[in-house]
Amino acid sequence: MSKRLKIAALAGDGIGPEVMAEALKVLRAASKKFAFEIEVNEAPVGWAGIDASGKALPDATLAACKASDSILFGSVGLPDRDPTIPRDQRPERAALLRLRKEFSLFANLRPVKLPKALAHACPLAPQRQGDGIDILVVRELTGGIYFGQPKSIQDIGNGQQRATDTMVYTTAEIERIAEVSFRAAQQRRKKLTSIDKANVLENGALWRDVVTRVAKKYPDVTLEHMLVDNAAMQLVLRPTQFDVVLCENMFGDILSDEAAALAGSLGMVPSASLGATSGEQTFGFYEPAGGTAPDIAGKNLANPIAQIISAALMLRFSFKLNDAANAIEAAVEKVINAGLRTGDIYNPADNSARKVGTREIGDAIAAAV
Ligand code: NAD
Repeated sequence: MSKRLKIAALAGDGIGPEVMAEALKVLRAASKKFAFEIEVNEAPVGWAGIDASGKALPDATLAACKASDSILFGSVGLPDRDPTIPRDQRPERAALLRLRKEFSLFANLRPVKLPKALAHACPLAPQRQGDGIDILVVRELTGGIYFGQPKSIQDIGNGQQRATDTMVYTTAEIERIAEVSFRAAQQRRKKLTSIDKANVLENGALWRDVVTRVAKKYPDVTLEHMLVDNAAMQLVLRPTQFDVVLCENMFGDILSDEAAALAGSLGMVPSASLGATSGEQTFGFYEPAGGTAPDIAGKNLANPIAQIISAALMLRFSFKLNDAANAIEAAVEKVINAGLRTGDIYNPADNSARKVGTREIGDAIAAAV
């Protein structure tokens, strides 16, 4: 019997519905070719959720997610919508952070790939791009300074205040994200760069110790440690030295965006946030790195590739359908090599390139699968 995948598809706001439609089109093409079935449950989230039932994460949407094996997410948030709605009820917090917490998504994987054909879109000089950039940033997502207690702003007299954030990591939290990173490195070029601030932070010293210990289980992977300030510099000086980059939460937040800039457009960068694995299946949340792009929404201008590759990551990480995931990634590469470009990656000086819309590039990728 063929595998049946239960997917909650939450398109969200802005360009979300446009890019989600293309990702579902490509998934359906892959399901035909690789003989698996998909059961897609589409549900509103973000302002679409507020419009539908008064909440950024409607109860029915959360129920649909819980009844699914993974979530394919678009993006949420429209900065100009109703300023009277308080921050904790706005989509970014009430939907996105809530879902991350609800499903204990502790590992964020962001592959950043700059194909040679898109060298013009990268902000780095061509000699720094080598044969193309291909980095996987793994970010710990549920610990560290964003969540540690105490966390407060206190009045300390004389009109002064004091802000406190606390950085906390336990051995177990570091071990589980290190395991995810080493396993990912085994599937790639077998090099892991672990980022810390071991020269100043106790957290950094523990991080380095634990990662070094976990590395003993993965003798085929080469481990190196790098201080975060140097890593920020190396990413722009010599990005081709990196394969998998492992970071705690805040360092990963910053470095993953720096790395994303190397791919030339947010429309090219997917991400996977993984929770616990039970048996064959890992619950995952898959979304483009970019936001709702209100400036281009509803105009057939958005690049759907980040959403389409997010769907490929879902097949790989949640459902172990590696052949189908590889086929989608190869189809994206083929279409780019054939010269099709949405506006964000189009170079008017390139005579072989042709500017197309969201739907056209989605059709071409689905056909290439
Ligand atoms: P953005 O990522 O939406 O847009 C930044 C720039 O990148 C814009 O010029 C946009 O046109 C471009 N861009 C982004 N995705 C693109 C794509 N697929 N194709 C072509 N161009 C693309 O960031 P922003 O403008 O700062 O935020 C807009 C809204 O999105 C805000 O409400 C923000 O909170 C929200 N947001 C949501 C998420 C999420 O849901 N995970 C992530 C980031 C931002």
